[in-house]
This record gives sequence, structure tokens and C-alpha cells, in this order.
Amino acid sequence: MVSGLKLLQDNDFLLVIVTNQSGIAKGFYTEKDLEILHNWMLNELEQKGVNISKIYYCPHHPNAVVKKYKKICGCRKPETGLYWQAISELKQEYDIDLEHSIAIGDKERDLSICNETPIKGYLINSNFHSSKFICVSDFKNAIEHILKEK
Ligand SMILES: [Zn+2]
Repeated sequence: MVSGLKLLQDNDFLLVIVTNQSGIAKGFYTEKDLEILHNWMLNELEQKGVNISKIYYCPHHPNAVVKKYKKICGCRKPETGLYWQAISELKQEYDIDLEHSIAIGDKERDLSICNETPIKGYLINSNFHSSKFICVSDFKNAIEHILKEK
């Protein structure tokens, strides 16, 4: 996983993570807990030479037990709010090119941004067949495919 991320980075990809964290809405952990975990993760990766630009997360859920997170939001995947936020933030700093950008996920909902942009989707599920996405067996396989296409 780390070496794959490093390869992407070495091939001029910026790395962002977009994640649903309904555990916050369900009261399993807090935003503070998640931030501590994320910081630890980013630090671990940084020490291995991988720089994640930012982690975007949705803390909401329509059936949340923690009231302030109970809503139907625009950021919980398959909604694409967090992707658009990432795109707009990255655009302020970098000359990013959606035609050559990719999304990788293990669920169809991770790739919804591909329906709204030219971003190419890689679904890590070799049992899945789709004309919209490139289905691969694992992350390593996805990386190999991406770099071959480049
Ligand atoms: Zn949300």
C-alpha cells in the first residue's frame, strides 16, 4: 500500500483521501479521536516518504445518534461534496488535470465523482463488472494499471 502510494506520488499524482466516517455520527468515536488517528497516519506515511495532501472526511449519518451529525449531507459518499472541495482546494495551489486524475476505491460509492468529471475510476473488486470503472483485484494491481496507462 505504502509503496503503491509512493509510486503514484513519484509519477506526479497528488494524493488525497476521501472517507465516510459515520462512526462519529454513531458515537463510536469523536472527531478529535479521528484527527489523532489521521495525524498519526499522515506522520507514519511522511516518514516513509509519502505525502498525503489532505484527508477529507464526512462525520454525518442520516440516522446518527449524536444529534449534531444527524443529517442528509452532501459530503457522505456517494455524494461528491468532499471531492469537489478537494478539487477546488488543490486547484488553488496546483495545476491539476482532472482528465488525468484517478479515484481508487473498494466500493462503487467511492467512485461517484467519476460520473461528474473525467476522473477515471478504479474499483478494487475483481468480482465486479462495470463498463464505467476499471475493476482490479487489489491496490497493487490498480497501481500497475494506472502507471501503464499513463
Ligand atoms: Zn457529510
